[in-house]
Amino acid sequence: MNAPSISRFAPSPTGRLHLGHAFSALCAHDLARAKGGRFLLRIEDIDPTRCRPEHVAGILEDLRWLGLGWDGEVVFQSERLPLYAAALDRLKAMGLVYPCFCTRTRIAAEIAASAAAPHGPDGPLYPGICRDLGEDERAARIAAGEPHAWRLDIARADALAGPLGWHDGVAGEVAATPEVHGDVVLARKDAPTSYHLAVTVDDAAQGVTDVVRGEDLFAATHVHRLLQALLGLPVPRYHHHPLLTDEKGERLAKRAGSPTLASMRAEGADAAMLVKKLRARSPLPFKGGGQGVGGER
Ligand code: GLU
Repeated sequence: MNAPSISRFAPSPTGRLHLGHAFSALCAHDLARAKGGRFLLRIEDIDPTRCRPEHVAGILEDLRWLGLGWDGEVVFQSERLPLYAAALDRLKAMGLVYPCFCTRTRIAAEIAASAAAPHGPDGPLYPGICRDLGEDERAARIAAGEPHAWRLDIARADALAGPLGWHDGVAGEVAATPEVHGDVVLARKDAPTSYHLAVTVDDAAQGVTDVVRGEDLFAATHVHRLLQALLGLPVPRYHHHPLLTDEKGERLAKRAGSPTLASMRAEGADAAMLVKKLRARSPLPFKGGGQGVGGER
């Protein structure tokens, strides 16, 4: 049976979109269109210091220019904070998260002082300073208004969840190893959630069946898979596509001065041609075949 697929594009409005974003959006869009499904647009704007409304407008403009129409209302994570709080409360009740009062400086000092600090995909792991604080001390510091994040006790969570894995449309069967991330932050000091928690909750709440995103987020999926198990959420199929590279094989990273879609448009780029070129590089077996698509194969 070929059930309709629901995919999504979930950019963070921290700047203008680049070709890499267009590629991700296109892959997700084409998957949904090929399967008679829905392509959702979710704005991941939980970081109050980096997200800007003008970038949201830019994202909508760029997607329209590319001809990548989305289905339904645009969803904003900043409007869904109670959902993430409820998920965090469940994890609190399960004794799987703890408040972390550490500053960056304190963590860095602890890591510097350790002979062999373990590293994960995103650098040195949190050294566990607040993991074993007593309940009374935690309660007192929270009551005193001391700023704190909430971290997942990854060892406990892992032990409870048991072995996990997921199916990846590009990488095949993957065994999850969330422990390599250490005690990840699920709610930040400056935001009542984190990327990991919000994305996991939203993909489930929005009924996303197929998460299409760049392989730079592959490592994060290990954490998301664990959170799904802990929160009893369905497991979508994942498709981590390779990142776009230039003629020299170098990654077209957002920060490496690659042109924005807006600047390409201003210079007269042809959206249909661009989409056609990007589509030819999609690793997914679904290419085009939809309405409102800027270019045909
Ligand atoms: N908001 C994330 C980003 O812009 C992507 C989230 C995802 O696709 O899971 O990098």
